[in-house]
Amino acid sequence: MTTVGILGGGQLARMMALAGAPLGLRFLVMDTAADACAGQFAPMVVGDYTDQEALAEFASKVDVATFDFENVPSESAQWLTDHVPVFPNPRALATAQDRLAEKTLFRQLGIPVPEFAAIDSRNQLDAAIATIGTPCILKTRRLGYDGKGQFRIRTAADAAAAWDALGAQAGKVGLILEGFVHFERELSVVAVRGRDGEFRTWPLTENWHVDGVLSASLAPATVDAALAELAASHARKLAEALDYVGVFALELFCRNGELLANELAPRVHNSGHWTIEGSETSQFQNHLRAVLGLPLGDTRMVGHACMLNWIGQMPDALALLGEPGGHWHDYGKLPREGRKVGHATVRADSPAALATALGRVGERLGRQSQVAPVVAALD
Ligand code: ATP
Ligand code: MG
Ligand code: MG
Repeated sequence: MTTVGILGGGQLARMMALAGAPLGLRFLVMDTAADACAGQFAPMVVGDYTDQEALAEFASKVDVATFDFENVPSESAQWLTDHVPVFPNPRALATAQDRLAEKTLFRQLGIPVPEFAAIDSRNQLDAAIATIGTPCILKTRRLGYDGKGQFRIRTAADAAAAWDALGAQAGKVGLILEGFVHFERELSVVAVRGRDGEFRTWPLTENWHVDGVLSASLAPATVDAALAELAASHARKLAEALDYVGVFALELFCRNGELLANELAPRVHNSGHWTIEGSETSQFQNHLRAVLGLPLGDTRMVGHACMLNWIGQMPDALALLGEPGGHWHDYGKLPREGRKVGHATVRADSPAALATALGRVGERLGRQSQVAPVVAALD
């Protein structure tokens, strides 16, 4: 019996455990919160990720360790490697944890990025705003997610407010200033690399964010094949440079038909949730296969798919369950503002059929504005 250990017990760990059940896998989850939602399906070790005793207990009970949460301290991940195989490797994790390190790597590999500068002081912020220009975004280098730890600077006069909001973080998690990209679309490549180096991507995904949080994803993205191939080749370069094992997502902006890399998520990703019903093998199942050294499954699509995120609270499931091609995911979390509590995936055989189904679903759930940009892209 193989036990997979997952650091972080949120919905990603929960969906991994569900995907691993048919493979006969067992799971052990470690999280700081006793009520983490993966705990509804897997035994848990509750403790801080820096707590050696909790980590030692976790390591002693698992055959391989992986992550649902990218901000596990890299020293803890490193410590674990002396006790159990850990995938992705701690160097890959450390690179993806730091926006400065990750953008520097993108650039070294010839993957275009928005303009950026490391910021350590208010003077540096003013100088960087002058060089990069406005609008721009001040972000924490580490620990940001769902658009948290970011301040949008419209004109140079906003520098003081940006520094008030984030300046205290300069000495803690570091800051980075990025040029604001007026993109036509946001895209992501969800990819997997096996222990033997085998590399696969799912069809390119198109994403829509509201207030910095993912709202909807569409696959395949409505872009030409050459752009999708370029995105996949960027992902492959990164995976090889980091000797990455497992699933990851590369987030991209598309501006004037060109791709700019935003960030690398070193884990299964929200923009790949559609793969559960929309592809031959889901990102969750392939992540497990990769970290266990098993053959990877086919990543081809089954039709056209759109994922809608439920933020804050769940809509009424009954409004969707009657929809052919509609799939419901409730993460079993308590409602809370801004929290990802569930998602739905709608799958259809053609772009036109998907647009029609989404129109219907949007109306029944009262989510017309959430589906509208996806329906427009499918037109
Ligand atoms: P995630 O939950 O994806 O990890 P995050 O907190 O790491 O989010 P980003 O991915 O950097 O944050 O930003 C969230 C969203 O804000 C992006 O998907 C994009 O819509 C917008 N955004 C971020 N950086 C820029 C930029 N430089 N130019 C334009 N929009 C941006
Ligand atoms: Mg991020
Ligand atoms: Mg992001």
